[in-house]
Amino acid sequence: MPFPIEFKECPICHSEVTICRLACADEPSIPKDAYVSLEKVFTPFQQPTQMLAPVMKGILCHFDVCGKCGHRYCVRAEKVSLPVTVQQTSGNPIRFDPKSHRRL
Ligand SMILES: [Zn+2]
Repeated sequence: MPFPIEFKECPICHSEVTICRLACADEPSIPKDAYVSLEKVFTPFQQPTQMLAPVMKGILCHFDVCGKCGHRYCVRAEKVSLPVTVQQTSGNPIRFDPKSHRRL
């Protein structure tokens, strides 16, 4: 089965309506062809010790809740490569604003 794998209907009641699609249907800030889902779970292929690569490959699973019966199910699974942004842990001076820490 080629990725992305989509489950277009609820496995319980076979409705295609999901809570997120329902909520986003009339939302002008979301493009019409954008894939929307309530939850996204990313599972990397790489071991945590090998995550020094500029991209992290893995599986992104989208979960949503059926708009008819309320069943939560996986609506889509896709392979993705996410750019890894390395957090700088040193070199940034810690700014301290005495006004915001003043006791009232
Ligand atoms: Zn359902």
